[in-house]
Amino acid sequence: MAEIIDGKALSAALKEDIAVEAKKFEDTYGRKVGLAVVKVGNNPASEVYVRNKIIACEKVGVRSFSHNLPEDENEADLLALIDALNADPEVDGILVQLPLPAHINEKKVLARIRPEKDADGFHVMNAGGLMLGLPCTKPCTPAGIIELIKSTGAKIAGKNAVVIGRSNIVGKPCAMLLLAENATVTICHSRTADLKSHTRNADILVAAVGIKEFVTGDMIKPGAIVIDVGMNRADGKLYGDVNFPEAEKVAGYITPVPGGVGPMTVTMLLKNTVEAAFRCKESKEN
Ligand code: NAP
Repeated sequence: MAEIIDGKALSAALKEDIAVEAKKFEDTYGRKVGLAVVKVGNNPASEVYVRNKIIACEKVGVRSFSHNLPEDENEADLLALIDALNADPEVDGILVQLPLPAHINEKKVLARIRPEKDADGFHVMNAGGLMLGLPCTKPCTPAGIIELIKSTGAKIAGKNAVVIGRSNIVGKPCAMLLLAENATVTICHSRTADLKSHTRNADILVAAVGIKEFVTGDMIKPGAIVIDVGMNRADGKLYGDVNFPEAEKVAGYITPVPGGVGPMTVTMLLKNTVEAAFRCKESKEN
């Protein structure tokens, strides 16, 4: 039976370190680290995510600034708010909860955030930095995935890593981070031929598909590390992209849903924000 990778426990341990850093910032600079959280509309999933992020901020001593805008908010006003947050010295990180309503150009909004304050790591400058191996803010979910894999004690270098999914927020950046850790990386997607032949070869398998229990036991290499990113709601429950009962019989390590990748995503957001706060102050002092 696979060993469970406990994302909640790992996240709690990391939050203790983040709280220490946040306190150090406050003691040094006389104010708390600040994260602005912008939500447009009333998407029920976004409401939950935003609430969790704000609670998490409080727990580590990061001040949150909530901006809840109506569904019909116009793009120009949203961009003006981003400009104001970019200029606000109390705000170290900015998070715009996605998805945005259809009438707002998401790319334009994300591009307006100052890269230094881009707590989610979605700005094109940070995405480019990740691609080129330059210092940058890493997207939260992929960064959390790397921490989860490392927590097993297994070496990533030289391993075959297969990522199912090529989204800009999970699949692609996760593949880049695994590459940076010297894994041999394969990215699979909806047009991949004979998916199983790839996944069966994976020492590390990351499932970011968005289809309930998509990865079955026969797709997994015995002993593999399986990271389930999926969050699929059905009949009032949360399901991953991996068929957990089948997978845990084959894998060496596996993340549960809930309690695996999810808590780490929020924790990495806090880490990004505190790091951004220090970076900004230190660059001004030098
Ligand atoms: P997405 O943008 O919908 O991307 C899904 C990817 O899966 C696409 O690249 C798609 O390929 C691929 N795919 C779809 N059907 C496939 C198939 N039959 N075979 C192989 N690949 C297939 O989703 P996402 O934003 O990356 O999110 C993925 C999952 O992670 C979702 O369940 C989401 O809710 C969850 N998520 C969780 C967290 C967290 O914190 N736990 C954070 C973000 C996302 P194509 O590109 O060819 O269409």
